Amino acid sequence: MTSNTKENYLKAIYSLEESGTSISLSALSRIIKVSIPTVNNMVKRLQQEGWVYYQKYKPLILTDEGRKVASQIVRRHRLAEMFLVKTMGLGWEEVHEIAEDLEHIDSKVFFDRIDEMLGFPNTDPHGMVIPDKKGNSIRHNYINFYSLDEGNTAVLRALNNESKIFLMFLNKKNIELGTKIKIERKESFDGSIIVSYKNLQNIVLTKEVCEQLLVEKIEE
Ligand SMILES: [Zn+2]
Repeated sequence: MTSNTKENYLKAIYSLEESGTSISLSALSRIIKVSIPTVNNMVKRLQQEGWVYYQKYKPLILTDEGRKVASQIVRRHRLAEMFLVKTMGLGWEEVHEIAEDLEHIDSKVFFDRIDEMLGFPNTDPHGMVIPDKKGNSIRHNYINFYSLDEGNTAVLRALNNESKIFLMFLNKKNIELGTKIKIERKESFDGSIIVSYKNLQNIVLTKEVCEQLLVEKIEE
């Protein structure tokens, strides 16, 4: 459950910027699940903090200071998720909610030590980039799986969606980060894609699912 706090707004704004999506009040209202007037009020507070710049009817801009603050919240969240998977052995579908709590632990030494114990990972269990202590993060140019053509092969590198229900769906389909997926056919009727991966042939994935998969195209 995402709550109406300054930190959650910053995280949501950071992820929108990261995915190259325009940062609008309506996008925030969708992610945080609150009304537009509520978003509007909070954006004013973020603007007072100097974290965002907002002009009516224009996309929101994250300031350098805002990005720095956001990157450290995101860092704590993603390191916590990685710790829960790598060290505690939880599934990638189980960790987001717990990390929502852990990210509030106000101890730099705690997260820096987790980082070190994990060997300074670049990405979290969902393939999202973990910003470093200074807020820098490497950029990947992953593409949306849905944008590929028939005959293309790609490796799953990250997800646009870390909801439990989606991750459990991928578990059931036996799809994980690193899975090599080949597009056999694209259905023009409903946009579904027929794919093969591992030893599975002709599996149907809907357009909605394919749009959540961020991949790296490879030559076969
Ligand atoms: Zn998460």
